[in-house]
Amino acid sequence: MRKWFAIAVWLGVVASAQEQPRVVDPGGAARAPSDAVVLFDGKDMSHWTTTDGRPARCKVADAAMTCTTGVGDIASKERFRSAQIHLEFAPPYMPDQKGQSRGNSGVYLHGRYEIQILDSYQNPTYAHGSCGGLYGQAAPLVNACRPPEQWQSYDLIFHGPRCGADGKVQAEATVTILQNGVLIHDHVKIRDSVKGCAEGKAGESGPLLLQDHNYKGAPVTNMKFRNIWFRPIQDAAE
Ligand code: MG
Repeated sequence: MRKWFAIAVWLGVVASAQEQPRVVDPGGAARAPSDAVVLFDGKDMSHWTTTDGRPARCKVADAAMTCTTGVGDIASKERFRSAQIHLEFAPPYMPDQKGQSRGNSGVYLHGRYEIQILDSYQNPTYAHGSCGGLYGQAAPLVNACRPPEQWQSYDLIFHGPRCGADGKVQAEATVTILQNGVLIHDHVKIRDSVKGCAEGKAGESGPLLLQDHNYKGAPVTNMKFRNIWFRPIQDAAE
């Protein structure tokens, strides 16, 4: 018995000598983790600008921002390389529209790689363009959408690309996404980062960008967002 007690004490000493995981207050449904970079906390648009640097004109009320067609794409002032990202969105109810015209927005990682936002509740369209799609490349694994006007969430793990001086990609950008807690992309390599490296447009870091899906004749879309933050993360050892 004394032997086991001695072993237990020894294990305790060893454990206490090891470096412990950093403590993070995990936050909650409407509260970011304690070490997050908060991009929107429900109070104002101070962390956002239009892509040409003007103040973002989304309206803030009831802890949410509402971005209406015509305000333009908005980008976060803070940039990241690789990050855990959280945002919540609520597409409007637009029964007169269908396909890509029904509640379209998008969240662009590094301002470049679009994760589609769309009212995809009983609204078929091409698969990679449905809500949660990695636009132009990959459909979500499942349709985990809620009906319009309800709050939904994206939780993303994104790793930025690495480009060589020769324009060749050394590591493609990757993304894992949960929509409403359901896995919809599992460590997908983002093809566009190869092209981005070749064109010198894929960067070491970039902003989060929210799309104003505007075009001639576009329907007026009032897209709501709330509770947006990221936590910078390390790249996996290569
Ligand atoms: Mg879109």
